[in-house]
Amino acid sequence: MQIKSAVFVESNTSVDRCPQGPFPDFAFIGRSNVGKSSLINAICNRKNLAKTSSRPGKTQLINHFLINDQWYLVDLPGYGYARVSKKEKQKFQSYITAYFKERKQLLCAFVLLDIRHEPQAVDLTFLEWLGSQQLPFALVFTKADKLKPKQVALKTAAYLEQLKADWESLPPYFITSSAKSEGLEQLTAYIGQIMDEIKGLNAL
Ligand code: GDP
Repeated sequence: MQIKSAVFVESNTSVDRCPQGPFPDFAFIGRSNVGKSSLINAICNRKNLAKTSSRPGKTQLINHFLINDQWYLVDLPGYGYARVSKKEKQKFQSYITAYFKERKQLLCAFVLLDIRHEPQAVDLTFLEWLGSQQLPFALVFTKADKLKPKQVALKTAAYLEQLKADWESLPPYFITSSAKSEGLEQLTAYIGQIMDEIKGLNAL
């Protein structure tokens, strides 16, 4: 899918105030510093659509961007950073869980994982929770340019192997590099495919 237009719509901390209407959401979430802002900017071919921040946990909002006048790309706050208070973490958790539980428009959550790291408890717990809520998700391995191709293959295989312990079937996954613009077309093609399926269903 070619991204022809990407327009910031609004930022919220409440699912109730997220944009209403017919457009579906595709959400992006991951630990702070995983490369989420860079990926969003690379997908949309824009430098500063999503704000890359050097301070982890700075963006604490649900950000909606309207893509091609057809769907929302949703930039969710990064999780798992150490430098915020317990109270702040709880507040964050409550509106993010509310977003996932209540946002009917959500079609797929893309969970970002830094390809260099071993599977982290915080990510695995989050994936398990998405599964328990029966929410569709896909994995996006980021920063693939930081490893040699052989290591990329090994790391990905090891991650999927770990997931097999808990999951009957594996989610779709994408290996990406925002720096090298790799794997982005596959990811947007997947969004296009879901959009086509929805259109097909609506036409029935
Ligand atoms: P966020 O906190 O998840 O939004 O992460 P950012 O997009 O701000 O990226 C965090 C850091 O990782 C920044 O220093 C980025 O330049 C770097 N980064 C992000 N994506 C890539 C990538 O694909 N390749 C490389 N080499 N670095 C990346």
